[in-house]
Amino acid sequence: MNKLTDYAVSSENSRGRVIFEESPTGRSEFQRDRDRIIHSAAFRRLEYKTQVFVNHEGDLFRTRLTHSLEVAQIGRSIARNLGLNEDLVEAITLAHDLGHTPFGHAGQDALNNCMRDYGGFEHNLQSLRVVDVLEERYATFDGLNLCYETREGILKHVAKKNAQKLGALGERFLQHKSPSLEAQLANLADEIAYNNHDVDDGLRSGLINLAQLQEVSIFSRHLLRVKTLHPSLSERRMVYETVRNMINTLVTDLIQQSTQNIRDACIRNLEDVHAAPPLIGFSGQVKKEQQELKKFLFDKLYRHFRVVRMNNKARHTIEKLFSAFSSEIRLLPQKYQEKFEAEGQQAVADYIAGMTDRYAIKEYQRLFTIAQD
Ligand code: MG
Repeated sequence: MNKLTDYAVSSENSRGRVIFEESPTGRSEFQRDRDRIIHSAAFRRLEYKTQVFVNHEGDLFRTRLTHSLEVAQIGRSIARNLGLNEDLVEAITLAHDLGHTPFGHAGQDALNNCMRDYGGFEHNLQSLRVVDVLEERYATFDGLNLCYETREGILKHVAKKNAQKLGALGERFLQHKSPSLEAQLANLADEIAYNNHDVDDGLRSGLINLAQLQEVSIFSRHLLRVKTLHPSLSERRMVYETVRNMINTLVTDLIQQSTQNIRDACIRNLEDVHAAPPLIGFSGQVKKEQQELKKFLFDKLYRHFRVVRMNNKARHTIEKLFSAFSSEIRLLPQKYQEKFEAEGQQAVADYIAGMTDRYAIKEYQRLFTIAQD
């Protein structure tokens, strides 16, 4: 463990757990949180959930699990350099996508649409719901009973109406306070990871190509450097080298700029962090380049007709599942029928959100194909 700064979150200044537990021996409070996340069922399901490409499209594309591991790795490197709590960053980053539906953002949008008359569906809030309520593994409580700061980091965004129902955890959204630097960092580590691995996965899939990426300044700059240093490199290695160098540039810039921001704002402790505007961030130049890359990915990859076509199937699948379960609750497993009695459509949303891509596809076949059991 690195040496923590006075404004880092620590086991000592933590606001603790909802249900009191004795401090662990041999590991910190946040190491315990990380361990609980890794042992959860929701974490294992991330292996079969879409990041951009649906699980059956290929074995080498990122899944939510490998994405989360990359985010954790990037997050930890930055935390160590900034004297922040690595274990907390690791716990937040490994848990940040636990609430995602099958089929990525298309699945989340479809479920949100299905739930519009019942409070909507937000994946950040669902991630919190997984660790607060839905995991069933401990003798004396539901959920994982994680520390306040881990839960704060998981709840990246939430609608105002939902923030009001969350007590202490929702207050920062209503009072416009900043979360810990560890939470801010986890958020940007997510962004660094997905922008870069989507370039890699996009090229691998053939949906985008190197010629198109020449338009993107951060990519073309790094590609040129790699080509100059290694002119005879195979294209695949050239892509890896370029992406690797891009990640390095972003991480280094984030560390330098954030150090400067923390110094300029005279941050001395955690209270100062909460009162200040967000301090973890890129320099102006790199931010501009990141936006350019994001726009490229949005136009050329996320809106590519093959991605849109798969998203359309995903939406259709989620909508059909939701409407079947909502109109005939006896189609739900017994446990969810009982939950439906108490919580209504939220039980259907929990059931669908918990599905992996392949489970949702199978469930769709079981419900709508006559030749299936
Ligand atoms: Mg993510």
